[in-house]
Amino acid sequence: MVKGNMLYEGKAKIVYETDNPDELLVYFKDDATAGNGAKKGIIDGKGVINNKISAYFFKQLKARGIKSHFVDTIGPREMVVKRLDMIKLEIIVRNVVAGSLVKRLGLPEATPLTSPIIEYDYKSDELGDPMLNRWHIMALKLATIDEMNQIEHLSLSINAVLRELLKAKNVDLIDFKLEFGRDKDGTILLADEISPDNCRFWDADTHEKLDKDRFRQDLGGVEEAYQEMLNRLTL
Ligand code: 5GP
Repeated sequence: MVKGNMLYEGKAKIVYETDNPDELLVYFKDDATAGNGAKKGIIDGKGVINNKISAYFFKQLKARGIKSHFVDTIGPREMVVKRLDMIKLEIIVRNVVAGSLVKRLGLPEATPLTSPIIEYDYKSDELGDPMLNRWHIMALKLATIDEMNQIEHLSLSINAVLRELLKAKNVDLIDFKLEFGRDKDGTILLADEISPDNCRFWDADTHEKLDKDRFRQDLGGVEEAYQEMLNRLTL
């Protein structure tokens, strides 16, 4: 595997071409941002941990028949993935009220939802990732109705798998963000990462936050929380 030209640098990851035109290399950085880049910092060791946690979840999902872009881990911060035509949407799945939903619905944090909620954000830094519904998605031709049906079905399946895996580690999955893309054949695959950067993980007994909210809300113990999640999942 030869690391080629840099294709794209995001807030938490850098994507490189490789000598295989169908595969890319993702490098996980320690950089952290919140509030659409308004707050910036470094979480020491985050890239290494997120690379490991994401690989763990992608492998567990694959074992349960849910395909992702994950190919292999080739370094502490480096993952090889399938090159996809990315869909410019963030798919947010919620099980418990937290984050932006607190303000939007006027419900207290930690209120359980009787069934999961799926939301869509338009992936656009310039616009601040505005929320969309299926009508916007159709009108903007971001994805077809059939693709959206597949994405919702996959997102709910992923939610069920992750909740079950995490429950065994005494962690509640509060909410998370997913991204999807199309492979060469047009098959919808899970992409991006699954880590404390894009999921809310709470200890099931104490409700201690074990995710990026510790950075967003200046709660301290940020590195320790990421390490704790890796330990619970893999030790
Ligand atoms: P909220 O809308 O409450 O801020 O976020 C809901 C969930 O989606 C949280 O788990 C949060 O980490 C994730 N999420 C939403 N937007 C983004 C984003 O732009 N980047 C990342 N990494 N996660 C996001």
